[in-house]
Amino acid sequence: FLSGKVALVTGATSGIGLAVADALGAAGADLVIGGFGEADAVAATVKDLADRHGVRVAHDGSDLTDGAAVRAMVARVESDFGRVDVLVNNAGMQHVAPVEEFPPERWDLIMALNLSAAFHGMAAVVPGMKARGWGRIISTASAHSLVASPFKSAYVAAKHGLLGLSKTVALETAEHGITVNTISPGYVWTPLVEKQIPDTMKARGLTREQVIDDVLLKAQPTKAFVTVEQVAAMALHLCSDASAPITGANLVMDGGWSAA
Ligand code: NAD
Repeated sequence: FLSGKVALVTGATSGIGLAVADALGAAGADLVIGGFGEADAVAATVKDLADRHGVRVAHDGSDLTDGAAVRAMVARVESDFGRVDVLVNNAGMQHVAPVEEFPPERWDLIMALNLSAAFHGMAAVVPGMKARGWGRIISTASAHSLVASPFKSAYVAAKHGLLGLSKTVALETAEHGITVNTISPGYVWTPLVEKQIPDTMKARGLTREQVIDDVLLKAQPTKAFVTVEQVAAMALHLCSDASAPITGANLVMDGGWSAA
């Protein structure tokens, strides 16, 4: 149901973003995937998506901590592909430190990527979406859009902010066939999370199972990781006509974390 549509998914060279791009491509959307990566690996990902889904796929490796680069990326996609119908603001980063030791430059980078990039992206795609009378803007927030954890001041502030931004733009675009929503996963099994396990085992003298159950999944009542495919299925659903009334919403997929 997305054939003829163009989806720009940031942070789609790995993890959640790649799964979202895969789902949107499977539904027929042409794709621009953002994110960093080794050139051969990125080229292989682009080819794989194009071959399996029979859609046009391009990669954009812009550093989205620069607002002007975000706007330039959208302008390039509109010029090369003619339009952006679906924008998925997914690129994100984390830094863990007590507030008094939190490096100010890391704070600025996290705010720039996890919050301001979504602002610049939305500002850039909304005029075209309004002109066509249809659009879907989805941002990957987090359970940390609703609850805090110690030592994650920048991430939690940015993800809370992303909710406010998304709700505001939802109101501004509600009469134009555009929906603006956030998806808030708890812990998702991505390479990023998997890579933390050996270090945490060493640092805390725990087994792999203890790290998973007592550290990572401590706050997640289901004691199960969210999968990237589950997040992608939610993003795809938000692009469907059935989701037309869903706007300004935060779709929480946190295994009960924020209910506790
Ligand atoms: P990931 O590290 O696998 O992917 C991050 C993506 O962002 C990569 O494609 C990377 O190249 C890109 N990226 C990083 N810095 C960038 C920059 N400066 N400019 C452009 N692109 C950049 O991470 P993931 O786990 O798939 O996370 C994706 C999103 O989901 C993030 O916003 C994250 O906060 C959110 N999230 C993740 C989890 C989790 O448990 N993994 C949970 C909740 C929310």
